[in-house]
Amino acid sequence: MPAMQAAILSIGDELALGQTVDTNTAWLADQLARRGLMSRLHLTTADDQSAILAALRWALSQAELILVTGGLGPTEDDLTRFALAELMGTELQLDQASLDAIAAFFARRGRTMAQRNQVQAMCPVGAAMLDNPVGTAPGIRALIDGKAVICMPGVPSEMRHMFQRHVAGALDEQTGRVIRSAVLHTFGKGESDIAQMLGELMRRDRNPLVGTTVARGIVSVRIRSEAGDVPSAESALETTIGEVKSVLGELVFGRDDQTLAQCVGRKLDEAGRTLAVAESCTGGLLAKLLTDTPGSSGYFLGGWVTYANAMKQGQLSVEERLIREHGAVSQPVAEAMARGVLGRSDADYALATTGIAGPGGGSREKPVGTVWIALARRMDDHTVKVEAQLHVLPGDRAMVRLRTAHAALNLLRRAI
Ligand code: AMP
Ligand code: MG
Repeated sequence: MPAMQAAILSIGDELALGQTVDTNTAWLADQLARRGLMSRLHLTTADDQSAILAALRWALSQAELILVTGGLGPTEDDLTRFALAELMGTELQLDQASLDAIAAFFARRGRTMAQRNQVQAMCPVGAAMLDNPVGTAPGIRALIDGKAVICMPGVPSEMRHMFQRHVAGALDEQTGRVIRSAVLHTFGKGESDIAQMLGELMRRDRNPLVGTTVARGIVSVRIRSEAGDVPSAESALETTIGEVKSVLGELVFGRDDQTLAQCVGRKLDEAGRTLAVAESCTGGLLAKLLTDTPGSSGYFLGGWVTYANAMKQGQLSVEERLIREHGAVSQPVAEAMARGVLGRSDADYALATTGIAGPGGGSREKPVGTVWIALARRMDDHTVKVEAQLHVLPGDRAMVRLRTAHAALNLLRRAI
């Protein structure tokens, strides 16, 4: 049996106007993809009944499963149920169980239900309501010419809850195929280098399938395993993960939701070591990324944002002569900043960043994106070992800063 085709329809003026980013469609498409289902069509309409009707008709001509979000609320602009009834050529009728559930939802919050909310219990004749324990808007399911149309609330948390409650299980059963996927994150090489290294592992006819994506300097290797049952899918997935890791080695820093900062934090934690930072061009971003992780106080001591030269001198004892002779963006200054942090704190490791984030400030010798990062380490014999790296990073100001912070974290990761 060929795989079922799906379409996703999101409804709302705020989406059509570009004021709200359509995260529902992305989330649903990912949920379908995880089950091996391709959503071949993504549609967005304004709160306009004829547009919704046209979109539903088109979706039905293209797909067997149509997932709809939005337009189930109690206000004038919530038109999904009316468009669905028009499509089905039926009337709306009151669903008493839904009305009771909505009234009970309000009662639990000590409020009385507004008259307006009654419309949310109206169901096209021939369709069925899907209960919504986390909000007022029930969903609606209809079977039209053997094709399933499932309407869910627009509020992302309610939509996700309804999908998990009423749709996910049925999809798993219907597809009879189990998909397990994982993502391995790498740092240090570009996407084409990674692809070159992976070689045959990236063949398109392979199962598990291996592919790469890149975002903010981090190349991620996506692995998708498909089988008839869970144990087969999982063991094939783990085997391929092992193969990818053995090819890429130290380039791999994490899996699935793990960030570079979390990976560094875990390594510091395991080694019982601490870190402090000195930031110029990253202006606190490095500290921000490190402290995004709960529990980071166990290994991250703190840091200095020394943006002006006087602060580098006064706070971190960077010699004025170094700045005068080499410039603030230079190896000697980056190293002196890192040493200065160890001089001013008890940390075992110190990271320092200094660079030209742009858009101005570049020169021929030091173009925008020129960045020095340094790592100082207190050795067991109390001497200090320092290493520095030069990067010339592409991208705008925000990208240069983020890549600098990532490069600094990666320098430390490789050193621990
Ligand atoms: P609705 O159910 O259409 O009244 O939507 C309620 C709220 O959910 C809207 O005001 C949006 O803030 C949000 N929302 C609706 N649709 C989406 C979507 N596709 N992606 C993200 N947020 C959405
Ligand atoms: Mg709406």
